[in-house]
Order: sequence, then C-alpha cells, then structure tokens
Amino acid sequence: MKTIPVRNPINKACAVCHTPFKVYPGKADDLYCSPVCSQIGRRAFNPSKELLQNLLWLAPTTSLAKVFGVSDKAVEKRAKLMNLEKPERGYWAKQYATGFEVDIEKLISLIDAEKVEIPQ
Ligand SMILES: [Zn+2]
Repeated sequence: MKTIPVRNPINKACAVCHTPFKVYPGKADDLYCSPVCSQIGRRAFNPSKELLQNLLWLAPTTSLAKVFGVSDKAVEKRAKLMNLEKPERGYWAKQYATGFEVDIEKLISLIDAEKVEIPQ
C-alpha cells in the first residue's frame, strides 16, 4: 500500500510586498502573493556572465527563472551559452535536505546591484 504524503503548506513572505502567504511543497519556489506582485517583481533577464555564474550557485535554476520571470529552460540555455559551470544533478536536493532555503532577497539585491553598476 502506498502512503499518501501529508502536504503541509509552507509559510512564505511575498518577495515584493512581504505579505505572508502559503504555498504547498510542490510549489515551494513561488515568490509572490499575487499576479500583480509577480509582475512588479520580475527582473529583466540580462545578467552578466559573472552575475549569472554567481546566481547558479546560490539557487536552483527554477528559482532564478522565477526571479527573472522566464522559464528554467531559458536560464539553462543562457548558462550553456555563456559556458557557465552549474551544480551537478542532485546538488540542490542535497542542499534542501540539509535545510537550505533560497534567499530570494539576496538574489534580487545582487541582480539590482548589477543594474545600478552597469548603465545601459
Ligand atoms: Zn505581494
């Protein structure tokens, strides 16, 4: 007999307005409480090679994709194009198993810091 895992919602704070909201484990990467915040929170997907390299080791591509508002395929493709080194398969599962949590605020501040430094 198969056991049905209990899926307790996780409490999170919206990355934009900081309103607490609940997500279910399968959607633990959700960052925003609403589509409006998701629209505001999205970052233009134009990281430098150095920044993206850095980000790849700070969070899984699924989380990076959400911060940039693109698909994880887009992030993977860009990383490949830039010839960046990515954590191997299973790396993030191991991190999560030891209590790792994506620090969205940190990701956003790194991305925004670069935007200020590099004028378009
Ligand atoms: Zn919000």
